[in-house]
Amino acid sequence: MRTIIEPFRIKSVEPIRMTTPVERRSLLERAAFNLFGLASDDVMIDLLTDSGTSAMSAAQWGAVMRGDESYAGSPSFYRFEKAVKNLMPFRHVIPTHQGRAAEAILFSIIGGKGQVIPSNTHFDTTRGNIEATGAKAVDLVIAEGHDPASLHPFKGNIDLGRLESLLQSEGDSVPVVMMTVTNNAGGGQPVSLANLHAAAAIAHRFGKPFFIDGCRFAENAWFIKCREPGQAERSVEDIVRDMFSVADGMTMSAKKDAFANIGGWLAVNDDTLAAAARNRLILTEGFPTYGGLAGRDLDAIAIGLEEIVDEQYLRYRVRTNEYIGERLIALGVPIVRPVGGHAVFVDARGLLPHIAPLQYPGQALATSLYELGGIRACEIGTVMFGQQPDGSEKAADMDLVRLAMPRRVYTQSHADYVVEVFEEVVARRDTLRGFRIVSQPPRLRHFTARFEPL
Ligand SMILES: *Cc1c(COP(=O)(O)O)cnc(C)c1O
Repeated sequence: MRTIIEPFRIKSVEPIRMTTPVERRSLLERAAFNLFGLASDDVMIDLLTDSGTSAMSAAQWGAVMRGDESYAGSPSFYRFEKAVKNLMPFRHVIPTHQGRAAEAILFSIIGGKGQVIPSNTHFDTTRGNIEATGAKAVDLVIAEGHDPASLHPFKGNIDLGRLESLLQSEGDSVPVVMMTVTNNAGGGQPVSLANLHAAAAIAHRFGKPFFIDGCRFAENAWFIKCREPGQAERSVEDIVRDMFSVADGMTMSAKKDAFANIGGWLAVNDDTLAAAARNRLILTEGFPTYGGLAGRDLDAIAIGLEEIVDEQYLRYRVRTNEYIGERLIALGVPIVRPVGGHAVFVDARGLLPHIAPLQYPGQALATSLYELGGIRACEIGTVMFGQQPDGSEKAADMDLVRLAMPRRVYTQSHADYVVEVFEEVVARRDTLRGFRIVSQPPRLRHFTARFEPL
């Protein structure tokens, strides 16, 4: 059969509150045209992020009831640890309340002034935690990763030549080589198994540990199965184990590919590093058998890890985004290609060429998706990246709008609806106008800036 159905039935539902364009216009005005300022009850389809927004399964909710809240040695921890080690056999698994807490602990130990940490592309919390210790975060993704039109199958790959020359010139300052799978900041683009192995081999040749930021490891493994020569016959679980077999440690947000609403972990092989991390954990998160989590969260993650490597799920997951992407291309909407694992990225500057980058075409598109259809997406462009440390402003490389898909939450008709709203936006695109920022904080302005339409 050609139709890829959602591989689940719905047991528990959340009603969507329907609103009209007139109501949404006034809600937008009240939020000063900043979509982060909306109450989520006023959003019909929320594509702001795929983080922590997954629908848990009946088995996960069942596991929540089984959660044991003992301070030390809870069986929930041992079930969690076993599930992690089943896929990622690191010696030490240290639970944290989310991914950035794992990053903060890791870099507080191995970061510091003068250190240089390369990756394909650091996610913003990773970069933030590295820089907070005084270290430098360096992005070395391949050139195709910067080209929205390139159809390279693994645009998340690290440039091996540049990694090697960095290690040659500044190797003494590099405490770890990292790799983000999939490459979130680069559009959810995957890394090939060959590239992971080669990057790890280079790191090890220079005596450096190799760490994976594994937030979307299952989506990445699915892309390897579908796109990498020689991998089609392997199971996703087998590919996942292969990916992590070359690593010395990992950081993880369970809010992504563990189907959980909260959680994360740091895993390492090195005993000394693990001991230092646990000491830090006790100070900032909690005792090592719960980290920053409740026992019930650990149990939900344990089941989520079994479910996330299900190939029927991954096929549906990746196909949903491809489907929206294909339909948008057919409408003449420019998007970043190929479509990534967790989101479709729309090129707002390409769609709205009459709106200058400093009038925020991404904001114009995102607010019109909300006004016309009640869809909340995320501007990833000049609003998010244009603010300079000296208070000036410059256009970002691209003005994108990200439609991030929560896991197992929306159905085919929701996807069709999103496409139909875009149809309406395309019909009216010449009437869309840019924005002016009327007030903003000194940093990370996208969360709280206030806008006025031009
Ligand atoms: C979300 C994310 C993180 C941070 O995880 P949180 O749970 O949000 O703290 C780190 N790296 C990547 C690639 C992510 O997508």
